[in-house]
Amino acid sequence: MKTPGKVILVGAGPGDPELLTLKALKAIERASVLFVDDLVSDAIVAFAPPSARVVYVGKRGGCKSTPQEFIEKLMLAAAREGQTVVRLKGGDPFIFGRGGEEVEHLQAAGIAVEVVNGITAGLAATTSLGVPLTHRQHAHGVVFVTGHAKPGAQGPDWRVLSATAHSARLTLVIYMGVSGAERIQNELLSGLPASTPVAVIQNASLPSQRHIATRLATLAQAIAQSGLASPAIIVVGEVMGALALAAEHPATARSA
Ligand code: SAH
Repeated sequence: MKTPGKVILVGAGPGDPELLTLKALKAIERASVLFVDDLVSDAIVAFAPPSARVVYVGKRGGCKSTPQEFIEKLMLAAAREGQTVVRLKGGDPFIFGRGGEEVEHLQAAGIAVEVVNGITAGLAATTSLGVPLTHRQHAHGVVFVTGHAKPGAQGPDWRVLSATAHSARLTLVIYMGVSGAERIQNELLSGLPASTPVAVIQNASLPSQRHIATRLATLAQAIAQSGLASPAIIVVGEVMGALALAAEHPATARSA
């Protein structure tokens, strides 16, 4: 039997290839097989050696996404063949990337696993607008939270979160929240003021990036009007105050 190879879970960052870490780049350049998620840019996959096998496991090309268990089986088989397997995931593998589950399954099967961080979309999204996630005057911390619960499962408790975000002054960074924006908005309004600044950023770090700045009371309406869609990040909190003001008074912002 061949010496088993290993699997490296690599964070590909939010999209812009220049936001890859050096460690991620080196892992991609040394891979013999790559399993690539949907949100990974082609320009990043292009760093793989020409001899490497590239397997797309997302929903590209109109196919249904590959079931998680099947991806894990494929990775396991490749590692057992002695391949150097890179699992390329958008953003950071350990932020809503199911990286934790993959590490558990691979390790349970006796395969060595390494994880390389990537810049998570929530961080890149705000930075691209020049806004910090924490600020001594506006936010003492930040919560990364999913807007999309597992089918049949209960999602985050938005009422508790909104009350906590208000009293502890936390920025809420919501992943996968655009399709449920109306429900999220209504629940967040139980604990946060209607005037809380909000921004929605689509395709952060890519040339196709677009964003809107608004207030919590008009979040769902502003998304619908702008046509913004997934992949997008919703950021709720006072750190977005200057952007919301500028959106409401564009002439003042220009002359300031
Ligand atoms: N592991 C990833 C998140 C995977 S969940 C990370 O750390 O970024 C997928 C969600 O991430 C999308 O629905 C969207 O909310 C967000 N996302 C990923 N890439 C994005 C991008 N370039 N711009 C905005 N949101 C993005």
